[in-house]
Amino acid sequence: MRIGIIGSGVAGSLLAEGLLGAPGQEVTVFERVAEGEHAEAGTGLNLGPNALKALRLHNPARHAALRAVSLPWNRWTVELADGTPLLDLDMLEVAEEPGVRIRWSELYRVLRAPVAGATRHGHALEALEEDTAGRLVPVFRRPDGSLAREGGFDLLVGGDGRYSRLRALAAGEPVPEQLGLCIYRLLVSEADDCPFDDYGQWFEGANRLLAFRVPGNAVYVAGTFRIFGDTSIPDYARRPVYQRALFTPSSGQPSPAVTWMLERIERHFDDIHWARTQQAPILRHAAGGRALFLGDAAQAMVPTLGQGATQAIEDGVLTAAILRAGGDAEAVARLRDPRVAFVRDLSRAASDTILGTDPVAGTRKKGEPPFLDALRRLYTEVPERV
Ligand SMILES: Cc1cc2nc3c(=O)[nH]c(=O)nc-3n(C[C@H](O)[C@H](O)[C@H](O)COP(=O)(O)OP(=O)(O)OC[C@H]3O[C@@H](n4cnc5c(N)ncnc54)[C@H](O)[C@@H]3O)c2cc1C
Repeated sequence: MRIGIIGSGVAGSLLAEGLLGAPGQEVTVFERVAEGEHAEAGTGLNLGPNALKALRLHNPARHAALRAVSLPWNRWTVELADGTPLLDLDMLEVAEEPGVRIRWSELYRVLRAPVAGATRHGHALEALEEDTAGRLVPVFRRPDGSLAREGGFDLLVGGDGRYSRLRALAAGEPVPEQLGLCIYRLLVSEADDCPFDDYGQWFEGANRLLAFRVPGNAVYVAGTFRIFGDTSIPDYARRPVYQRALFTPSSGQPSPAVTWMLERIERHFDDIHWARTQQAPILRHAAGGRALFLGDAAQAMVPTLGQGATQAIEDGVLTAAILRAGGDAEAVARLRDPRVAFVRDLSRAASDTILGTDPVAGTRKKGEPPFLDALRRLYTEVPERV
């Protein structure tokens, strides 16, 4: 069986690694960026304990490698911007092991290394054709502008992220749902004087700062605020003075943590990466099961619980196990779609406080049994067998 994977991101790399050496399966990964170019390098992310459980059960070598280049995510604290504490959660109350805090460049480096020999770089999927045997033939644009065809594939897997070209070609462009939220990210280096370490959130009304240390004496900072009207990010919001006003408490002085972040946001304003929060309908396969979608290509979701890359990890390792056992795209859908729907619904429900619910009442609810039970399901319900 010839399997072509489009994109050596999170899901694509893990799927490829899990299939390497599987009898009767020939796997090739096609990646648009050049070898060693980890394009998203520069920011950080947190991976949920469920990503680590999925790796521990299905790819222990990658579990160890990720632990080695990351910091543990042990606690989750929430405060108001003036420092009033709202939540202090020990992750082991709801999980079997901590999550991780990591730099994007390190995540990609660690996941891509084992599949380097099976990856064709500088191959950007552009079009889709069919051969006489009814197999899909991907057409790639090369860096010199030429087109390349690598033959027909029994299965093409879209691991090509939230703007998946494979999904657009095989099933049409998904219509994204805008949540009316701007989220921006910044990686601050040389952070010796940072007054916090593990995963924290700070609220002023619905405006939220989220930050944590990552390896290499750096701190990841993400700001979230609501946008109205036509939902594009207005120019006036992309100004330091506006951002300072958003997170300055009406009730008093910002806490030392918020003061530190506001100063760094101002100092590194030009390095900020701005985005709008959106999600797309789940789609697992198309073209009669010949095209399979994983990670953001299948299920772009709101980043509130840090589950985008985490679910891409679950997708990658569990899909490898299913395909190795002789399963098909429909078997992947049966296992993954209910789980992903649960995670998306929970992420959406947990977004209440950035969408306008009072942060004090909304956060207190997150410390109560119904939400903690849902988090326990999120962080532990990863199957050992498929
Ligand atoms: C602001 C923000 C913060 C986030 N924070 C977190 C977090 O803390 N925790 C978390 O778990 N998730 C987080 N996410 C989500 C996370 O970034 C994604 O869910 C995750 O990267 C999806 O992985 P993937 O494997 O589907 O795709 P990606 O990792 O995006 O990989 C896609 C790959 O496909 C390649 N590619 C794309 N198009 C083509 C093409 N046409 N041909 C060939 N190759 C192609 C790309 O170069 C890339 O290598 C965040 C997202 C945002 C926007």
